[in-house]
Amino acid sequence: MDHVANLKGRHICLLGGDRRELKLVCTLIDSGAKVSCYGVPGDGLRPEAIVAESAEQACRGANVVVLPLSGTDSNGNVKVASKPICITRELLSVLSPNAILFSGTVPRFLAAESESLGIRTVETTANDELAILNSIPSAEGAILMAMQATPFTIHNSNCLVLGLGRTGLTLARMLQGIGAHVWAAARKGKDRARAFEMGLSPLDFADLSSCLPQIDIVFNTVPALVLDRALTYTMKRTAVIIDLASAPGGVDFVAASERGIHAELAPGLPGRVAPITAGQIVSKVLPEMIAAELARDEWER
Ligand code: NAP
Repeated sequence: MDHVANLKGRHICLLGGDRRELKLVCTLIDSGAKVSCYGVPGDGLRPEAIVAESAEQACRGANVVVLPLSGTDSNGNVKVASKPICITRELLSVLSPNAILFSGTVPRFLAAESESLGIRTVETTANDELAILNSIPSAEGAILMAMQATPFTIHNSNCLVLGLGRTGLTLARMLQGIGAHVWAAARKGKDRARAFEMGLSPLDFADLSSCLPQIDIVFNTVPALVLDRALTYTMKRTAVIIDLASAPGGVDFVAASERGIHAELAPGLPGRVAPITAGQIVSKVLPEMIAAELARDEWER
């Protein structure tokens, strides 16, 4: 049986989410926490969870507030929620003193507002355990999208993975397992060395223009513009681009469309293609993270 974090006596508030949060609510309740929710899907929610009438009611007095992995936009609007939620200074000020906010990513203004109120923020996507486990449904989802967008097999096709971080590495390995010829672009020598060790064809970003003309499918995992207009124009018109990186992605979609290349941004793959597994991943890692951050807080005070 998995270790259960001890969150006895803690009040945890969940704002927004999808089916993944239903599993998380169960685990948090099993860990002894009082759980209040707003904007979490109601169907299948544990009866012990307090379903609030408003985000403010859910947050009042909470020690911890948890936002989904997709986090908020730059204005504080929670991206995935069954009801609109905007994280404002007023909302944060009803949390318990020294509360902790967990969110996939934390935009600058939210970090600043939180800090000024004495609220610590934790970016959940920075957690390697969570990100590596999540890379499995993400890579499967990206391959599914590529299969749907191509009239040929992935096997024996020329695939390029941009970025060899937690997601890129898993994706490259899976593509290799299906029998694709896989090129992997990374800016660090150590990552290109790892690609070489894995039997991939390593590539520096500076050499993309010479590699791209032969590529059938590009998978981008770099959250910066790496496939720009000029590079897009070196690609075959029949090529497909699947961009996994967080919005706005790393691809010039306008140039791709002009060139007639099928290019798709692929957000939130774990929740879309494997919500049960994705829910298990979040509920395995997040309660431990919350317990560790609360313990750290107590130790520091
Ligand atoms: P990661 O481990 O941080 O990997 C990111 C990779 O991008 C690293 O190899 C990094 O290289 C590289 N990189 C960053 N900036 C670069 C730049 N300017 N030029 C060249 N390379 C650069 O992140 P991850 O967990 O794999 O996630 C990658 C992206 O996918 C993120 O945007 C994440 O939000 C997104 N994501 C999306 C889904 C989905 O469902 N669509 C699922 C999971 C993750 P260095 O090590 O050299 O910095």
